[in-house]
Amino acid sequence: MKTSVIIVGGGMAGLTCAVELERRGVEYRLLEAGSRLGGRVVTDQVEGFLLDRGFQVLLTGYPEVRRLWAMENLRLRRVRSGAVIRRQGRWLTLPDPLRHPSELLQALRSPVGSLMDKIRVALLALSSLGRNADNSFVGTSQTTLQYLQGCGFSEGMIETFWRPFLAGVFLDWELSTGADMFRFLLPLFAFGRVAVPAGGMQQLPIQLERRLTPGRVALETRVEKLEGTRCWDQSGQLWEGDQLVLALDGSGADHLLGRETEVRWSSSCTTYFAAPRSIGGQGRLHLNADGAQSCIQHFTCMSDFAPEYAPAGQHLISVSSLFGSPSEAELRGQLQEWYGAEVDDWRMLRQVSLPQSLPRLEPGIRPRELKIGAGLWRCGDYTAYPSLNAAVASGRIVAESLGYGEPK
Ligand SMILES: Cc1cc2nc3c(=O)[nH]c(=O)nc-3n(C[C@H](O)[C@H](O)[C@H](O)COP(=O)(O)OP(=O)(O)OC[C@H]3O[C@@H](n4cnc5c(N)ncnc54)[C@H](O)[C@@H]3O)c2cc1C
Repeated sequence: MKTSVIIVGGGMAGLTCAVELERRGVEYRLLEAGSRLGGRVVTDQVEGFLLDRGFQVLLTGYPEVRRLWAMENLRLRRVRSGAVIRRQGRWLTLPDPLRHPSELLQALRSPVGSLMDKIRVALLALSSLGRNADNSFVGTSQTTLQYLQGCGFSEGMIETFWRPFLAGVFLDWELSTGADMFRFLLPLFAFGRVAVPAGGMQQLPIQLERRLTPGRVALETRVEKLEGTRCWDQSGQLWEGDQLVLALDGSGADHLLGRETEVRWSSSCTTYFAAPRSIGGQGRLHLNADGAQSCIQHFTCMSDFAPEYAPAGQHLISVSSLFGSPSEAELRGQLQEWYGAEVDDWRMLRQVSLPQSLPRLEPGIRPRELKIGAGLWRCGDYTAYPSLNAAVASGRIVAESLGYGEPK
């Protein structure tokens, strides 16, 4: 099979690359090892519940989002901003006065952080306005924890809010993720929205897949050998392109290239429960500031902000663990401590453990070169910073760099 471009891997990066080639009228073949497109973005339907494979959200401020998707088609359901925090046996509510100005007084009185901490949050958020991926990823050598300490936040503010909140974003309780990632995300969280499509996160790849010409995608086609711009799948079939794009996850790409991989992964485990009632909090994220001694680091009632995620009359609780995969008994023990006998009525639907959830962004790392040989390219979240935005942006940039001009 000979064509202009071979794309290996049909996650968000490979799909975006294919969409951009379609727009330019370029012949390509997209080879995907799995039985569907979307890579790490999947939604399973179980008994009428929508279960994303791992708790994932879309930040509406991601620069690539509006470029790629028609917002009205995604039917976004927004997470309520602010948080409910568990700290030393108490529930604390942290309102978000930037989104809900009427909650300003409540926010100032909240025991989460001192008044100076709150002023620092506001100043830091304002100073981040206008910052984007281009001017965030400058190779800062600090970890996020060092950066927050350098900003003057109190230990109480870091331990009660920043650590449990950012640990859920980075999947990194230590906050050893490079501070550039924090600098990039801050304005998106402060001034944008956090949301999921009403039909589940898999709507993101599904809506891109609809733009591809039928017959150009080969599913269940695992590339096992690579030589220049030629590759062979598991059946030994040769696929040859004038150019070839590796859109696999980072470890997979390095393996095909015969290189020792430098990609390190953060893991996650999400457990879903069906419940007859919500846990309260009006659709806010629940953070466990005592998470270092617990099997649960954050959790939320998905159906409070996205009712489509649960059948009528039921609720979907998503529980996230960062230190391995706890048993149902362990999870129930922790949840019962918080919610008492109510948890007896919850039914575990599924547990999703993903050892390779997010590539780690080590401090000081700069985005990787996308051109790696004559006619050979790569894209994917690991080439820049771990997120949907990076996956999609790198897929687009590679498609634009292949030399086929502007979209028709
Ligand atoms: C639990 C979890 C939570 C997350 N939360 C968020 C979040 O809240 N916000 C956010 O922005 N991002 C989040 N992410 C990250 C986001 O999902 C990823 O950054 C993005 O989906 C990566 O896309 P990709 O195309 O780079 O890689 P992948 O999705 O890994 O795609 C690679 C594709 O290549 C295919 N492949 C592999 N080997 C071969 C081969 N040999 N031949 C052919 N095909 C092959 C794979 O099957 C896969 O389809 C989360 C991820 C997880 C897992």
